[in-house]
Amino acid sequence: MSLTSRKALVTGSTSGIGLACARALAREGADVCLNGFGPPEAIEQERAAIESEFGVRCIYNGADMSKPAEIAAMVARVTAELGAVDILINNAGVQYVSPIEEFPVDKWDQIIAINLSSAFHAIRAATPGMKVRKWGRIINTASAHSLVASPFKAAYVAAKHGIAGLTKTVGLELATFGVTCNCISPGYVWTPLVEKQIPDTMKARGMTYEEVIDKVLLAAQPTKQFVTVDQVAAAAVFLCSDAASQITGTNISMDGGWTAA
Ligand code: NAD
Repeated sequence: MSLTSRKALVTGSTSGIGLACARALAREGADVCLNGFGPPEAIEQERAAIESEFGVRCIYNGADMSKPAEIAAMVARVTAELGAVDILINNAGVQYVSPIEEFPVDKWDQIIAINLSSAFHAIRAATPGMKVRKWGRIINTASAHSLVASPFKAAYVAAKHGIAGLTKTVGLELATFGVTCNCISPGYVWTPLVEKQIPDTMKARGMTYEEVIDKVLLAAQPTKQFVTVDQVAAAAVFLCSDAASQITGTNISMDGGWTAA
């Protein structure tokens, strides 16, 4: 196992891509901290399953990624309990779909906080330890929307373009410290986040459920297939490997060809 003795914090890992990343890192031997919302029993079940399936330590921290103080406290707690934060995956994210003139101001603030500012706060808190240990992997879950836009997703597209810029800056700053920072930009991955935005897109565009899948979601992806959470997780594991030590500041597309067009 390539990541034995590494300690990983994956934000937004009670579901979807984050959970798949946490499980994939644990499969490689890393101790992990889960974060995110959900029913406590379900989270405890996932946490215990990771420990028993992979023989690693798995802890949970319920920090709200829209709250800077909670993010800093989480990084401190993981460092105290697991011994370090060697791998940080900034993955927590939410979506809201609305025409710009009706876009609720509180939704804008929430999406910028959770999808963009949270990564800044977590990186800021985790970087000192990585620099001292001369090893670190920071992976931001961006999106095809870090490179191109879609209508009705003002806050999400702005936040994801911001994450791509943050990734470049941090990659440059930490380049001589054995710490890499990259983002992975999936196209549409079949997760609760995608499923939940279908009703709003139906409303915004006056489409049926099937039309949203065919004409909005998969219309963008030349392969006509959803990305899987396990494919994103496998890319994250690769970025944590020694083979990826010279990959930094990049934006890795995994979008079935979407942004090639
Ligand atoms: P998801 O809804 O399955 O998971 C989102 C996770 O974030 C959950 O664990 C949730 O509890 C957590 N979360 C939400 N708000 C939080 C908060 N305030 N504090 C802490 N945790 C919070 O979604 P997903 O599709 O797995 O998305 C994960 C990431 O991948 C997001 O950043 C998203 O933008 C990105 N992404 C998703 C897709 C896709 O098609 N699903 C495509 C590109 C990028």
